[in-house]
Amino acid sequence: MLQLGLVGCEPGGEAAAPEGLRATTAPRDAQWRVSSGTAAVLGLRPLTMDAVPTTAYLMLGERCLRNCAFCAQARDSRAPIEALSRVTWPAFGAQHVARAVEQAHATGRIARACFQVTAGAGALDEAAQAVRTLAAETGVPICVSAAPRNVDDVGKLLRLGAERVTIALDAAKPAVFARVKGGAWERTWNLLMMSAERYPGRIGTHLIVGLGETEADVVTLIQRLSDVGVTIALFAFTPVPGTAMASAAPPPLSVYRRVQVARWLIVQGVSRVDAFSFDSDGRLTSYGLDATALRATLVSGEAFRTAGCPGCNRPYYNERPGGVMYNYARPLSTAEAEREVAALVASLG
Ligand code: SF4
Repeated sequence: MLQLGLVGCEPGGEAAAPEGLRATTAPRDAQWRVSSGTAAVLGLRPLTMDAVPTTAYLMLGERCLRNCAFCAQARDSRAPIEALSRVTWPAFGAQHVARAVEQAHATGRIARACFQVTAGAGALDEAAQAVRTLAAETGVPICVSAAPRNVDDVGKLLRLGAERVTIALDAAKPAVFARVKGGAWERTWNLLMMSAERYPGRIGTHLIVGLGETEADVVTLIQRLSDVGVTIALFAFTPVPGTAMASAAPPPLSVYRRVQVARWLIVQGVSRVDAFSFDSDGRLTSYGLDATALRATLVSGEAFRTAGCPGCNRPYYNERPGGVMYNYARPLSTAEAEREVAALVASLG
């Protein structure tokens, strides 16, 4: 989510520039925002952490032109400008960050770098410059979560050095999208489909559980996305102070778990949505596997870990230390995996 919500800005938010994205490198005085956990991993700022990010999360742009109700960076949000979801993002010089990313990647402390880009005048040019700058400095796989205007913008970011581009749907249903994000879901969907066809294996999306769709809605969409090779990052809606949805409730953990496991079974090719069962409220009641097979499939605990681009673990985007663990940012212990599997199986009954 930039709930990660940037993560979810609608494409077409800027007037098309006839010359396309500018492909210079970042100006020497450019600043990149860095998540507080990333800043610690990169050695830019000390922070005690019990879960360490394995991706460098970087944010470009200031207050977003769009107005996603869940997003700390939304136009009308009263959350601090350095906030995104539950995370704060101090700013550092771009060249300094790029060198720190290179060192962290070279020593195995991070596996990826991710630019989260707010929608605003010049935001895509800034993203293009940032990608070019980072790609020149390091061999780290780069992904960009932004609001490209068209497939050509996607291609440009990829050619400049991004390994992947993420176009966030956030919402599974057009009506929810219109209510929570504004604009047309179909526009984002069509761009996602065209991009996935043109650049197979290099396109991702973000989905947020808890915005108002049923489990059946979300899981059905996950199957469609998986079938066309789109990488699906799953988030739990997280109320952030200062946003329009600050007082809305996060999803029950049992709801999140059922969708999370459905995503994993689909992506792994273990089952498909047509084999799933739902009750009259769209709640998952079966994955089409018996309990023994389901337990055997889930016992590694991988299904409960953060999903998204390879190497992305997003510690504390949706979680508070010691609170509900929607996405595990690290491997589960045997006891944790057994507990999660038992709770999941019980919740299907
Ligand atoms: S899934 Fe990819 S685009 Fe999304 S936050 Fe993780 S690394 Fe960034």
